[in-house]
Parts: sequence; structure tokens; C-alpha cells
Amino acid sequence: VQGLEGARVAVLGLGRSGLSAARALAAGGAKPLCWDDNPAARAKAEAEGFACVDLKAPGAFDKVARLILSPGIPHLYPVPNPVVAAALEAGVPVDNDIGLFFQSFATLAWDNYDTAPRVIAVTGSNGKSTTSALLHHILRHVGRPTQLAGNIGRGVLDIDPAIDGEVVVMELSSYQTDLARALTPDIAVFTNLSPDHLDRHNGRGGYFAAKRRLFAEGGPDRAIVGVDEEEGRFLAGQLSEAPGDDRVIRISVTRKLTGPGWQVFARKGFLSEYRRGKQVASIDLRDVAGLPGAHNHQNACAAYAAARALGLAPKVIEAAFHSFGGLPHRSQLIGEIDGVRFVNDSKATNVDSAVKALAAFENIRWICGGLEKEGGLGGLAGVGDTVRKAYVIGREAAAFAMQLEVETQVCGDMETAVAQAVAEAEPGDVVLLAPAAASFDQYDSFERRGEDFVAQVQRYMTR
Ligand code: ADP
Repeated sequence: VQGLEGARVAVLGLGRSGLSAARALAAGGAKPLCWDDNPAARAKAEAEGFACVDLKAPGAFDKVARLILSPGIPHLYPVPNPVVAAALEAGVPVDNDIGLFFQSFATLAWDNYDTAPRVIAVTGSNGKSTTSALLHHILRHVGRPTQLAGNIGRGVLDIDPAIDGEVVVMELSSYQTDLARALTPDIAVFTNLSPDHLDRHNGRGGYFAAKRRLFAEGGPDRAIVGVDEEEGRFLAGQLSEAPGDDRVIRISVTRKLTGPGWQVFARKGFLSEYRRGKQVASIDLRDVAGLPGAHNHQNACAAYAAARALGLAPKVIEAAFHSFGGLPHRSQLIGEIDGVRFVNDSKATNVDSAVKALAAFENIRWICGGLEKEGGLGGLAGVGDTVRKAYVIGREAAAFAMQLEVETQVCGDMETAVAQAVAEAEPGDVVLLAPAAASFDQYDSFERRGEDFVAQVQRYMTR
């Protein structure tokens, strides 16, 4: 971290990003003052030689230059965080690791303008990880040096952007874009907007505002914007500098985009690129195994547009699509037993992403349930077409099942759900884990939930 030499910098939250911020601050000559309410987290920081001080104590912010906050800590909603309030009261600016990265990076990039890495930031409600990983994969496919950072891959302060021509692909959640004081990627991507995490952003407007900060005044050279929701259409319109300019690439999976600008859309399994009214490319996505379903076609459009903005040719991007294996827990094909496919989409932690996963397949034996998210399950009303039966897990499985409009069976746990689905599945069916709920009632994380599903399925594979 540059620009904070000799300064006392408070670091609240000592998870992965907090510890990496403390290390980067120390490496840049700053003096981190660390805190986490969890004693085990503090012990870890102290073991690395960092000073821990209670930031809730009176006077804790005397002579402190900045407060660095972890993305996991709500700062304003649903209730103001007392440490953040104390910092602001003392006139101390609040920032996060992303802000520190861009602050330092701006200095580096300014001094080495021609060779500095390009930074691509990906935000949106769903599809961030898949889009980021796919873009990273495309760049690797063409031999371009690239690093994945942010919510996926390494913490942004753990990367070393030193290689000429490198591209840093950064996945950013709304919690990260919300607070970063500097946010200046070369290319910014906004995939879509659906109501998730609304409690922490005080509603849909606040949530959109947090994501939109990536596109602020003087922002990215190029913006890739999903225009399937009103917010995206508004953003794209605001960013365009003239009719038909190239600054914005609009993407869609619901409509054929026409207009004088630059657009990438997918319909009926084909991706099309149009620029200034002329078709530039068409790619068949129907047999791209790693990107099943319209939601993944949206991710394909976003990654394709970013790769095009970096100057890659359509043909090489198409070739890279075919070697993309997908990410674990996101529409991931686990295997096939007697003509029945098993797909793990444990990452479908909200209604919207589960609806997308359910639209990507047919004849689904659907394993769902868990900790219900705010907003209820109303969005699941129309899923009946592709679902043969739901097998409901979770501590509140019975209540969850009652809200579904398809045939249901309350199974309670994963073992029972998989056993039941296996027993009833017929060739051509897909057993899909897409919970439409968080995992914390039964698991530590959605990853553990997905691993449990995979382990249960594997018991039948080895028989
Ligand atoms: P994020 O990083 O934004 O959470 P992921 O790529 O990890 O996104 O996908 C999260 C979940 O959302 C997965 O269950 C996946 O099936 C679903 N999903 C992926 N891409 C999209 C999309 N473009 N629109 C809606 N849902 C999506």
C-alpha cells in the first residue's frame, strides 16, 4: 500500500481481507491497529506480530489516518456499526482493501502508463464469479498473463501486478464497492440486478447505488452493462457519451439488441455481437458444456464483451468457451448414473439464481430448501414446467415445502433427499441441487452443502 507511510491505520475485521490489508499496510510502512470481536481472529493477527487494540474504546481513533473495514461487517444498515460511527465522529475516513488497492495502483499505473496491468472489475447480483472465472480462462487460453482477485481468487492486496500486459480480473460484491474510496478499473462489468442483500443496503435503490459506484464520474474507459433490468438500461444510457459511441457494450439474454452502439446478446442458444448496426460475430452456445442455461449465456456475453474490449478475436473466445469447465457449485455436472444426470448448484442461495438454474434443465428432481432469504419464495411460483418433484431439505423443510407449487416431499437432510431422488429418477431426469436458500441452518457454507451433495451422489456411483 502506498501513500500511508508512518500512518496509524485501524483495521476492523481480521478475516482473509482484513489480514491481507494489515500485511499490505505494514509492508508499505504504515502501522496497522487491528481488531476483531472474535478472540481467535485476534490471536491469529497477534501471532503475525500485529498490534490488537479495542477500537470500541474511547479515544481509539486519536491520530488514526483511516479505518479499513472488512466486507463482512455491515456499516450502516440494518444498524450502524459503533466502531464505524466512532471513526466518522473522529473525522477518520472509512475505506476497505479495494480502496487501498486502487489508491496504490493509481500511483503505480501513473508512473508506468504503458506497461501497467489492466484492471477489469465485475459486479452484479448473480454470475459475478462465473463471469470472472470465464474471462480469466479466456485470457489464459490466449496466453495473456492474468490474475483473479477480489471475492474469488486472491485478496486484491495479495496480488502483485507487476507483469507487462497483465490483466487483473477482479470480482467485487456490493459490500466491497459500497465503501471503497478509490474505484477506478479500466473496464467495469455489471451483470444484472436482483433483490439480494437488500437489508444491508437499505433496499433496492441502495443496493444499485453500491454497485453503480464502479461506474462513477471519470470512471472506466469501457463499461459492459446487462440491460435486462431497468437499472442496467438506465446505467447504460447514462454512461453513453453520444449515440453509437463505443464506451458501453450492452448485453442481454432477453432481447435482440438493436441500436447504433456496441452490443452482445444471446437468444435461442446463439451469442451475437453487433457493432454500429452490423453483425460482427455469431457463436453457437448450445453445445458449450461448461455454460448451460440462459443465465450462463448471460455470463458468456459479459465475459465475451470484456474479452472483445481487450482486443481478442471472436474465434479465440469461442474456442476458449469449449474448454471452460465451469465453477464448483454453479450448475456443475457431477456425473451420470443410468441416464440420470446430477448437477450441483449449491451456490443458488437465493430465489433468482435457483429460478435460473431450474430454467437451464428439464425433467428436474429438485433438491431445495435451507435458510429462507428475506423476500420469501414467491419468485418460485412459475418453476413448475421443468420440475418433476421437489425434495426439500433444511431445518424448516416442512414450512419451505408448503410454499412450493410443485409436488414435494419433505426429506430434511441431504442424505435422504439424494436417496429419494435416486430411487425415483428415470433416464433423462436431472437431479439438481439448487436450494433457493442459504445453507447456515445445516452447513457452514454453501460449499460444504455442495460437497455433501457430491459425496452422497458418489455413494451411488461406486456401487
Ligand atoms: P456470484 O459470484 O455473483 O454469486 P456465481 O457465478 O457464483 O455468481 O453464481 C451464483 C449462482 O447464481 C449460481 O447458483 C448460478 O447458477 C446462478 N447464476 C449464475 N449466473 C447467473 C446469472 N447471470 N443470472 C442469474 N443467476 C446466475
